[in-house]
Amino acid sequence: MYDCIIIGTGAAGVSAALTLRARDKNFLLMGSASLSSKLSAAESVGNYPGLPSVKGAELKAAFSRHLASAGINITVKQVTGVYDMGGYFGVLCGQESFEASTVILATGVEAVKPIPGELQFLGRGVSYCATCDGLLYKGKNIVVVCTSKAMEDEAEYLASLASSVVYAPLYKGAAVKGDNVRYINDMPRSIEGGMRAERVVFSKETVPCDGVFMLKSALAPSALVPGLKAEGGHVAVDRLCRTNLAGLFAAGDCTGRPYQYAKAVGEGNVAAHSVCDYLAEKNK
Ligand SMILES: Cc1cc2nc3c(=O)[nH]c(=O)nc-3n(C[C@H](O)[C@H](O)[C@H](O)COP(=O)(O)OP(=O)(O)OC[C@H]3O[C@@H](n4cnc5c(N)ncnc54)[C@H](O)[C@@H]3O)c2cc1C
Repeated sequence: MYDCIIIGTGAAGVSAALTLRARDKNFLLMGSASLSSKLSAAESVGNYPGLPSVKGAELKAAFSRHLASAGINITVKQVTGVYDMGGYFGVLCGQESFEASTVILATGVEAVKPIPGELQFLGRGVSYCATCDGLLYKGKNIVVVCTSKAMEDEAEYLASLASSVVYAPLYKGAAVKGDNVRYINDMPRSIEGGMRAERVVFSKETVPCDGVFMLKSALAPSALVPGLKAEGGHVAVDRLCRTNLAGLFAAGDCTGRPYQYAKAVGEGNVAAHSVCDYLAEKNK
């Protein structure tokens, strides 16, 4: 059982990890080996103390070096669910599961909001995870909606299993390979069906399907953690970064505006301190 699992390797997650390391906690930092695509997206950051006009890519490289020098390895996983087990948390990554006394959500924000039907059919024909659910759609007809070029390998994995894939990229320069892949360059309007998802409605056509994969780099917090209180699409937290679930904390963009590195780093630090206080109280 870990003291904490940090989900997300952006500024907030990295900051939380460095503080937990300084406090000698036993934790996992889960996310992407390349940290966060947003980290490197900024051309020039004007208000990060001590680093005037630093490029996002430089900041990312500095964060990576800092993690390495602190001996913190990234556990490269996409978390698909966090479950409050009453006293500890189960963190699901596809077929794998991990346990921790506390969790820090540092998952950032996804620009693409859930479309009508997406949450309704989640687990009933709608999936967020190619690795976890891909095999269920072997030989089937699926629709794959993808928000980032970085996830094209997941789409290609799905194409290797499915009979046919309708691929809707929500970014420019898509290049998913496969003879069975047809592109629709349009934002899906809704997912419809009966007991399960049966079709995806686009503006010019409706595509019948057996399943829909929504490949997103960040999930809506409420889709990730059942029972989590959200406000306006963000995780509701107090000043100590506590959520409505005891032992679950949140930091960074996922808790709301302003979407800024400095705020994410600050909240990562606060959340990590709150984890230490929570564990100290629990272990009394
Ligand atoms: C183009 C651009 C320019 C910007 N310029 C500036 C600027 O000049 N100054 C400034 O202060 N801010 C700027 N920002 C905002 C800044 O990038 C964000 O505020 C900051 O990255 C937030 O950090 P975060 O850790 O909260 O989230 P993120 O950096 O978004 O990191 C979240 C990480 O969690 C991962 N994740 C999400 N869900 C899961 C899951 N289920 N399992 C595992 N991992 C998961 C994501 O893949 C991502 O790696 C800019 C953003 C953009 C897009």
